[in-house]
Amino acid sequence: MASESRTIKTFECTARHVNYPTHFLPIDTTNPKEKEKCVRFTVTELGPVCGIKQEPFKIGEIIAVCNGCLNAFLARTLVRSFINSKVTVCPICPYVLNKDEIKLTHLEKLRLQIDLHNENIDLREYHLEQRREELKTLSKNHQKDKRTLDKLWDPDDQSSSNEDPEIKQIVTESRIKDEILFENSKKTKEEEIDRFSCLINENKEILSKLLNEEKKIVEAQETKQFIQWRNEMTKKALVISAFALVFIASFKIIQYNFFCSFFND
Ligand SMILES: [Zn+2]
Repeated sequence: MASESRTIKTFECTARHVNYPTHFLPIDTTNPKEKEKCVRFTVTELGPVCGIKQEPFKIGEIIAVCNGCLNAFLARTLVRSFINSKVTVCPICPYVLNKDEIKLTHLEKLRLQIDLHNENIDLREYHLEQRREELKTLSKNHQKDKRTLDKLWDPDDQSSSNEDPEIKQIVTESRIKDEILFENSKKTKEEEIDRFSCLINENKEILSKLLNEEKKIVEAQETKQFIQWRNEMTKKALVISAFALVFIASFKIIQYNFFCSFFND
């Protein structure tokens, strides 16, 4: 009953969700356990994807499903979409969601930080590329203007007005001003390029540490899961061995009794 009042259900993404997303399509059932498994995955050529970011789900990530429309989202992406939002509505349907129902694990919080750093790097690389293009255009236009003024300044060209002292003065001043303007603009763009490059490098350094931390946690979880699996297998093997021993012992007893009674007869 408790699950029915929930607005969001969460679960860990498994290989079955990734490989067989259509197996989770809503079915007409009154069984709450079966209902709990129903998900309307958005499937692309990359497999089932998050309804917000449209990026494929990875095994081990936490999926959040809106109980109104049954569409699936990456839990940490849904949490992020709720930040600074007073009304937490499903990104696909108008169903109001209770954000407190999503509890992010330490690993998912770490992955949220990784997402933010990746987005920051992408945004800054975009701005960096823009500034580089602007600098190229600036230099190109400056060279073009320079060539135009060089034509006016050509001393071999007798027909031009370069012999006129007033024009000569205007051209000289214009060249100096243009050069100063260009150098200033160039310096500003170069400073911006350096600033974005530094920020990107800082982001990449932090990202590398976060990715290492994520790797350690995932490896620790995998080791824990392996130890659990090994312990379960050992228990099963012990139970099977015990049954086998009981079976063999029973068989031997029956065999012994049968032969004893046969020879006694
Ligand atoms: Zn919804």
